[in-house]
Amino acid sequence: CGIAGCVARGESTTPQQVVLDGLARLEYRGYDSAGIAVAAATGLQVRKKEGKLANLLADLDADPLAVARAAIGHTRWATHGSPSDTNAHPHVSADGNIAIVHNGIIENAEVLRAELSERGIRFASDTDSEVIAHLLACAVADDETDETAVTPDVEIPRGIAEEHRAAAGRLARALVRLVPRLEGTFTILALDGRCPEMIAAARRSSPLMIGRGADATYLSSDALAFADLADDCLEIGQDEVALVGAEDIRIVAADGSAAEATPFDYSFAV
Ligand code: GLU
Repeated sequence: CGIAGCVARGESTTPQQVVLDGLARLEYRGYDSAGIAVAAATGLQVRKKEGKLANLLADLDADPLAVARAAIGHTRWATHGSPSDTNAHPHVSADGNIAIVHNGIIENAEVLRAELSERGIRFASDTDSEVIAHLLACAVADDETDETAVTPDVEIPRGIAEEHRAAAGRLARALVRLVPRLEGTFTILALDGRCPEMIAAARRSSPLMIGRGADATYLSSDALAFADLADDCLEIGQDEVALVGAEDIRIVAADGSAAEATPFDYSFAV
């Protein structure tokens, strides 16, 4: 129901704090559970709890997450699967490499679930959203092994460390290829543990806003989540993919070509 993400440039911004503050601002929308994922040096860390954000915060206080450059968070309003810790977002791919949060409904989730089950994937939750994590991981794996999968040729943002650029490219191409396979509505944020300074995002019939600031880049389903932090705000178009680093953003249209984001006047939210 609410989504927040942050990629920070240096130590002055703590992405997990930005995400938790952002989710708190989206609480007015109503939700049944909340969760967060960070890409730490040692890989992905995920925490999620049924009930109020306070439950998640208490859990994080007792056992803090590692410091990370990027974080994604979610407040869920269940459509598929009961409210529970397991059904809360983020969802992680079976190989442990990719975490996603999703607002909306994947209408063809049953078909996609069956396809993934045939590939030997075991599901951890009853949600429609979990297919996104597994499909992305499969598309990334295909990209590593199958030359025909290495399309489209997507430019990744400046500022991604040399050793993470290959992983960033794979995640970006995987998400561009995934969007047309999904039926329904979605705002998706995805984090890959092998590229800890980029968030890949996509949307259809559900909002995705990106805010840029001196110290970090912010993502949300609602500009209210980061209104006082960002210097400007961009609106991502229908079926587009956004590749978001701390200092640069690339937008990819549905056909794989480079696109521009539309400036969004969010002064009403400040
Ligand atoms: N359909 C998803 C679920 O039930 C996402 C719901 C939402 O937008 O919060 O987990």
